[in-house]
Amino acid sequence: MRIPEDTISEIIERTNIEDYISRYVPLKRAGSVLSGSCPFHNERTPSFTVFPNTRSYYCFGCGAGGNVVSFAMAINSLDYVEALRLLARESGITIPESQFEQESGVRRARIYEANKETARFFHQSLMGDGGRKALEYLKSRGITQTTIRRFGIGYAPDSWDALYNVLHSKGFTDPELEAAFLCKKGKNGRMFDIFRNRIAFPLISTSGDVLGFSARRLNEEDERKYVNTSDTPVFKKSKFVFALNMAKAHSASELIMCEGCVDAIALHQAGFDGAVATLGTAITPEQSRTLAKYTKKIYLCYDSDSAGQTAAEKGIKLLTQLGVSSKVVKISGAKDPDEYIKKYGADGFRKLLSSADGEIDFLIRKIIGGIDLTISENKLTAVSEVSKVLAELDSLAQREVYSSRAAELIGVSKDAISESVSRHRRAAERKGKKEFEKKEMMKSLGAGDKANKDKLSMPGEAILEEKLLGILLIQPDLYKFSGGRITDDIFFTQFGKKVFSVFKGDFESGVEPNISTELLLPEEVSAVAKLIALRQSQGENTKETMLKLIDALEAKKKKNEADELISSADESKRAEELQKYIESLKKKNS
Ligand SMILES: [Zn+2]
Repeated sequence: MRIPEDTISEIIERTNIEDYISRYVPLKRAGSVLSGSCPFHNERTPSFTVFPNTRSYYCFGCGAGGNVVSFAMAINSLDYVEALRLLARESGITIPESQFEQESGVRRARIYEANKETARFFHQSLMGDGGRKALEYLKSRGITQTTIRRFGIGYAPDSWDALYNVLHSKGFTDPELEAAFLCKKGKNGRMFDIFRNRIAFPLISTSGDVLGFSARRLNEEDERKYVNTSDTPVFKKSKFVFALNMAKAHSASELIMCEGCVDAIALHQAGFDGAVATLGTAITPEQSRTLAKYTKKIYLCYDSDSAGQTAAEKGIKLLTQLGVSSKVVKISGAKDPDEYIKKYGADGFRKLLSSADGEIDFLIRKIIGGIDLTISENKLTAVSEVSKVLAELDSLAQREVYSSRAAELIGVSKDAISESVSRHRRAAERKGKKEFEKKEMMKSLGAGDKANKDKLSMPGEAILEEKLLGILLIQPDLYKFSGGRITDDIFFTQFGKKVFSVFKGDFESGVEPNISTELLLPEEVSAVAKLIALRQSQGENTKETMLKLIDALEAKKKKNEADELISSADESKRAEELQKYIESLKKKNS
């Protein structure tokens, strides 16, 4: 959906960036700026800086930067629109109807209401006469009354229009029910219910809204085991984590991630308050970002089949990148956590958790599992592959422990592994040293700027551009004194051209730019925040400085043109042409 630009500006103006960031980061005032410890990277000396005059922030340590919208996005792992909605709500600003709402005539709020009414109706149906079979099924799976109430479990009746009739009588329109993925229009033009004869588990957000349903078949002959709400204006499957609304209070210590909601419910019932689930899929990057907000430790509880193991491996990678440590729970003697608890009880499951493989164990087993060790040459491959993983461990003690374990599993001496690990470490060190040197060189040339890739090949030009843009971003009203000399042509780098074109309109009308605009990539927003930060902490942002920078950029352009002429001209003609060029310059200047 699109939020109008002036509403966005109003949200940014009405939210005091200093107060907002202070809620998450203790800030200390130092002159006109405030600083604190960066919430986006680990640091001892505070390099996170808030600039109230430009309503921006920038971390000199990790390069994160932007305005209050970027901050709300990053700290709450929200997307652009969600962050704006949150800020709007807090400052009492009403966002005009979105395009979706305008076009479809359906307001989001109505979808939430329809979902809530549906959850209520399904729950009543489960408790009523028609729900007897469903209730029996839940009992047979060991789900208690208390759990049914706690999770708001319900029953979608075996009817084509029971839900439709209820919602229709409550005033919900057909387009609303279609947008909510509750009913659909059939070929005969009549509306019918999507969830029929199914146990319905409401999908509840961390803020308590019903977003949709995951519905399990009651008749084993039905083709699909589960019918889940597909993406709607209020629900995105790849982002949703089931039962996080309950687990979030307990998540500080650890979360247990399962593959389906029934597993998560069974675990909660057995006293595992940190249980959550995806809806039968591997963890997505969006979900892992959400999870990382709540915990630093996750148990991955997947089916022991190869799909489950691949899902676990993917999950480990995503979570490790976000600094969340993960352990893989290996379920044997049962097909899933639900069955395991029934067989071995909560204590049994607790033991299973404590014996869970850490990331490294899991990777070792995974490598070895894929190699046929009865062939003795393969053992060499196994040793080498495992050593590569172990070589990356920083602690010697860890390397020792895992080397012994790997040696045992592969059936070689521990020395064989240790030696191979050392060899890999030496090789990595040599490579690392080279990379470090290269990195340092790039950094000194300004190539550390991911957003401005041309800076490496033209550092001088890039620095001039950045200064000019920084001044304009802080004082857009200076643009009118540039005499029309600032155009797309004056910029050398793609980044410079892009930033100028994005904010040109703001410069022309002299209004404060919204640097978190969707027209820029996140790293570009940070880079723009950096330009502002640098100009704020050093240098004068006056008309004179701006004009000097324009002069310098124009001179560079001329010099480059001359250089090009020299290098492109034929040896014999070169002097002649250069002479002509110099003459022409003289004439121009006189
Ligand atoms: Zn930082």
